[in-house]
Amino acid sequence: MKILISGASVAGPVLAYWLRRYGFEPTVVERTPAARHGLGGHAVDLFSSAAEVTRRMGCWDAIEAARTRLDAMTIERFGKRPVEVDLSRMYAGISSRHVEILRGELTRILYGASRDSAEYVFGDSIASLADDGAGVDVTFDSGLERRFDLVIGADGLHSNVRRLAFGPEEQLNRPLGGYLAVFSMPDVFGLGNHTLAHLSVGKLVGIYGVRQTGQVRAGFLFRGNFQYDHRDKDEQKALLVKEFGDYGWKVPQLLEHLGAADDFYFDGIAQITLDSWTSGRVALVGDAGYCPGPAVGGGTSLAVVAAYVLAGELARAGVDGLRSYERLIRPVVEQSRRLSPKVMGTIIPNSKLALQLMPVAAAALPKLPTAVQRFIWSQNAVGKALSSVPLPDYSDLVQPERSQPIA
Ligand SMILES: Cc1cc2nc3c(=O)[nH]c(=O)nc-3n(C[C@H](O)[C@H](O)[C@H](O)COP(=O)(O)OP(=O)(O)OC[C@H]3O[C@@H](n4cnc5c(N)ncnc54)[C@H](O)[C@@H]3O)c2cc1C
Repeated sequence: MKILISGASVAGPVLAYWLRRYGFEPTVVERTPAARHGLGGHAVDLFSSAAEVTRRMGCWDAIEAARTRLDAMTIERFGKRPVEVDLSRMYAGISSRHVEILRGELTRILYGASRDSAEYVFGDSIASLADDGAGVDVTFDSGLERRFDLVIGADGLHSNVRRLAFGPEEQLNRPLGGYLAVFSMPDVFGLGNHTLAHLSVGKLVGIYGVRQTGQVRAGFLFRGNFQYDHRDKDEQKALLVKEFGDYGWKVPQLLEHLGAADDFYFDGIAQITLDSWTSGRVALVGDAGYCPGPAVGGGTSLAVVAAYVLAGELARAGVDGLRSYERLIRPVVEQSRRLSPKVMGTIIPNSKLALQLMPVAAAALPKLPTAVQRFIWSQNAVGKALSSVPLPDYSDLVQPERSQPIA
């Protein structure tokens, strides 16, 4: 089967890798002009099952070596003493296999694992899809026309494939009432590997060091309901200044660098709430199908595990594997959907009480013995969602002779 994948970030390269291992012919189309260089993007998490998938791909050592090494965090609030949080002990308490890594680094490694055995096309995008039941005729922005047996959208929260095959985003997008802005700037505070966070009711400002560049990333999460143009970065920057211009703390120094930031990211924290991720011979994987909300729902781990399961189910059952993929992934997607509004409520305090309790709990948890921490995580919604990700074994389907480079 010839399978077209749209998007070469997390889900796309994982899917391409495993499809090729099972003897399919994957082509990945990515709209950026070249593969991501590695140091861009925000810090994302790989939890246990997702980490295991990357281990099976032979990527784990490279991922471990590239991890952020942000091991400590200071949480500050107006009028309160700072609270210190031991992040490395907290992560160890969640799982023995957890890693935080820049999304660009993760993409670089996953792309590296699949680039020689899958066809990658950069700087193009799907313009139209015509599914006749036996295959899909695809037209690209470049004018190229090709036919595939299946098309998979791995093109993120604002998926192009989803728009073409499932309808406009507005009908499928569930805003959680929060916003997220991130940009890079010089390390004017000498943070190194330290993370600083400042909390108030409805707002979180975070600053973390990026050891590979010597810069820091400044992140702003806040509640509200704003209208803005998704394509207009200047309008989004102005909105951020309006919201945080008189915040105080270190924010004035952060905003000084906003104008010069060329990697400014701004988006609403929203979920994609499709009931099904398959339409004929077109399907979705990762954020494209079921984004739980950027930064609040473990979307990266979900994307990795779901891509692995999708490839395995296609190998086991052909096109019918689309249905078993949905069945296997649905419980995790639903859990993640329920979970992320709660996570958002925790990290952007929604009341004075939450503002008081969150830092105290964050500081206390890592001080408990690891076994006790693991028990606590396993009893709450986050822990349950992370440990319930199914990871079937498809090793009997691997075809070593078909893992060779595509000519
Ligand atoms: C600021 C921020 C912080 C986050 N923090 C965390 C975190 O702490 N932990 C966590 O687990 N997750 C986090 N996430 C979420 C995480 O980044 C996503 O869940 C994850 O990247 C999903 O992977 P994906 O491959 O499904 O989609 P994406 O990573 O969004 O990739 C989509 C790819 O498709 C490409 N594309 C888009 N449109 C087209 C098109 N028309 N044609 C071809 N290609 C296209 C894009 O260029 C991109 O390469 C965060 C997200 C953001 C924005």
